[in-house]
Amino acid sequence: MTVWDDLVGQIRVQEQLAAAAKDADALVTAVSDGKPLDQGSKMTHAWLFTGPPGSGRSTAARAFAAALQCTSPDRALGGVPGCGFCDGCHTSLIGTHADVQIIRTDLLSIGVKETRDLVRRAQLSPAVGRWQVIVMEDADRLTEGAGNVLLKAVEEPAPRTVWMLCAPSLEDVLPTIRSRCRHLTLSTPPVEAVADVLIRRDGVDPERAHSAARATQGHIGRARRLATDERARARRAAVLKVPLRVADVGGCLKAAQELIDTATDDAKQMAEEVDVKETEDLKAALGGVAGGRMPRGTAGAMKELEDKQKRRKTRTQRDSLDLALTELTGFYRDVLALQLGSRIAIANVDVQDSLDRIAESSTPAQTLRRIESVIACRDAMDRNVAPLLAVEAMTMALRAG
Ligand SMILES: [Zn+2]
Repeated sequence: MTVWDDLVGQIRVQEQLAAAAKDADALVTAVSDGKPLDQGSKMTHAWLFTGPPGSGRSTAARAFAAALQCTSPDRALGGVPGCGFCDGCHTSLIGTHADVQIIRTDLLSIGVKETRDLVRRAQLSPAVGRWQVIVMEDADRLTEGAGNVLLKAVEEPAPRTVWMLCAPSLEDVLPTIRSRCRHLTLSTPPVEAVADVLIRRDGVDPERAHSAARATQGHIGRARRLATDERARARRAAVLKVPLRVADVGGCLKAAQELIDTATDDAKQMAEEVDVKETEDLKAALGGVAGGRMPRGTAGAMKELEDKQKRRKTRTQRDSLDLALTELTGFYRDVLALQLGSRIAIANVDVQDSLDRIAESSTPAQTLRRIESVIACRDAMDRNVAPLLAVEAMTMALRAG
């Protein structure tokens, strides 16, 4: 096992990162601190990983971070660092390396204040490792102001600092930032490769692994959840019943309400898991005693946390709805494939009966309109239309076809 093993079906990206890690290693070993990088070096200070959701953008960034911190004297593959076992590799991969910071937000945007803190930190030399690495998993969520703060840091990086930004596509990142990054594109991994990794690494039995990989069409994270989480399977099954339930107005409204309720439950569950502890921790840090009044002057900080938790709840609900919409789109895509006699592999083979029923009782034009109504629902939520309204409009449109 090396750090590269987690990259599924991304051979070209892996080659580029391995070459960069090798040059980075030579640089640290041979060149004294502070000297600029060679023009010809495959290593650089700012990287941008793009690719569709689930293709493994942040996995690739982490693997690269680990390879940069690898301290093993034996290089596994032709002198490439990233043994996967040494302290540098291991702590980077599990997220505890002092010089690898993973920025993952559960909010809808990353603001100026957080970005300033990061940039300040990025000016420091590595504490224990060879490089100071900052992985920003959702660079598409930087506000414009935050992007401008980051730009400065990417333009004039400290000698041993490496930025790794991840985003769905190039268009999601400010042009000024992306033009200063070396860009790597990940592609959706083949279904077979995803199934293989579920079997090999997660110990999932082959049949379930294949079914999960096919149903999620190469999205590794979702495939893993589907293969290992009973609740995720139950939820998907409920979503894939929606097309059969929109025969009348009552069914449409009911299906919409249930989609919203499920998403709300998800947000609530997550809030219960995280919010209470977070609030208690902050109270303690501000000098409060359990059950007692908070000291003067702490109301602002408490309010700030409350706002953050509220935004996170909205985001979780939104993500959960997004997933349901993705599953519905996949369902109708399969219907369309059946109607057109296309040779595309069907993703949702486990609900073949429902697919057949809908395919026989409608036309390809109707199916296309249904797919459009699912996309329109997502667009409406992007424009901050109330989720229930957007979802009701969708289920009604699914009925009409
Ligand atoms: Zn190592």
